[in-house]
Amino acid sequence: MDLTLSPREEAFRDELRAWLEANNPGSEPDGDEAGFEYRRAWQRTLNEAGWAGLSWPREYGGRGATLIEQAIFNEETARAHAPQVANVLGLAMGGPTVIAHGTEEQRRRYLPPILSAEEIWCQGFSEPDSGSDLASVKTRAVREGDEWVVTGQKVWTTFAHHAKWCMLVARTDPDAPKHKGLTYFLMDMEQDGVQVRPLRQITGEAEFNELFIEGARIPSGNIVGGEGNGWAVAITTLMHERATLAFSLQVGVQIALGELLEKAREARGNNGHAASEDPVIRQRIAQLLIEAEALRLNAYRSLTATMRTGVPGPEGSLGKWHWSEINQSLTELAMEIEGPRAMLDSDRWTYRFLRARANSIEGGTTEILKNIVAERVLGLPRMR
Ligand SMILES: Cc1cc2nc3c(=O)[nH]c(=O)nc-3n(C[C@H](O)[C@H](O)[C@H](O)COP(=O)(O)OP(=O)(O)OC[C@H]3O[C@@H](n4cnc5c(N)ncnc54)[C@H](O)[C@@H]3O)c2cc1C
Repeated sequence: MDLTLSPREEAFRDELRAWLEANNPGSEPDGDEAGFEYRRAWQRTLNEAGWAGLSWPREYGGRGATLIEQAIFNEETARAHAPQVANVLGLAMGGPTVIAHGTEEQRRRYLPPILSAEEIWCQGFSEPDSGSDLASVKTRAVREGDEWVVTGQKVWTTFAHHAKWCMLVARTDPDAPKHKGLTYFLMDMEQDGVQVRPLRQITGEAEFNELFIEGARIPSGNIVGGEGNGWAVAITTLMHERATLAFSLQVGVQIALGELLEKAREARGNNGHAASEDPVIRQRIAQLLIEAEALRLNAYRSLTATMRTGVPGPEGSLGKWHWSEINQSLTELAMEIEGPRAMLDSDRWTYRFLRARANSIEGGTTEILKNIVAERVLGLPRMR
């Protein structure tokens, strides 16, 4: 693992920095719709300048960039406080899955509108009785001529209310062993058989939804990776989710820690001293800085492994688990420093604290990630 940038990488970083300085539209407007349209416009701007889907092949509208360049992009956009993109799941998971398992026709059809944010994607994996144990999904797809008819329920479907396409895992062979009877479909959300109902989170936002699927139709041409091969395709999606997210999230932690330090210097305790002078708070901040550095180095280690093998490995699970612990501790400490003011739900740190509760559940719970790290990274005996 060599952390120094080559002259080519430095040139890439400088070009990006200059572009971000000239084009960053500033902070996001309030409100779900306004915020979403703002992120969609930002993604369009990025795409037109060739910054979306950086590591995707050029023939599908990407830039053919290396993973190091992708990492530089994540760091620089976070550092510049650039807005989020609208099609997070399409860019981070849907696109890479279609590139890995899709047909040439599917790649040409689906990839360009992911990049331009014309078509937003969501992920229909979890169900009311099937979250961690994805292989137990009950949503059924039954073949009718050249179509599949789908019935079932999905839950926690982030961005379903904006989405055109859903990465849907459904059971197509109820008699096969549970990992083998699954198929991965791209389901058009714009049809009568699909109903989207918002779920409100502790933050007050409705970022995710319930999906009720009643006789929805999917053409056979929308199967990714072949009938009965849904488990392997879904794993590709999850590996990309954890690897990509872990890398950009570690940058977010570095920035949040800087803000926490500022807050500790400004906030006064009962004795009139700055919180940053309190030895216990100093100790906790120091611990967080150490953890954040370990997270950053592990993200690079995982990136190096991905560059060697071409696919993200199980180490991404370690990054996601570690990040969620750091982010939760960091926001808890900010609330303590904030004191009673933290009760105001308009406070930025209160929002972050509440949102962080989901970190140890979304994208795989901490318990599940620990199992993956134990079995697949450390090689410990399997639980089952
Ligand atoms: C903010 C947010 C966004 C999300 N977005 C999406 C999305 O877009 N699409 C989607 O499909 N899903 C999404 N999810 C769902 C998420 O993936 C699931 O919540 C998660 O996988 C856990 O599943 P579950 O909620 O059914 O909990 P369960 O699987 O029922 O787990 C309950 C508890 O049991 C523990 N547990 C379960 N099995 C084991 C085991 N083998 N060993 C040890 N402990 C175990 C878990 O760790 C957990 O603490 C989202 C969730 C959140 C919070």
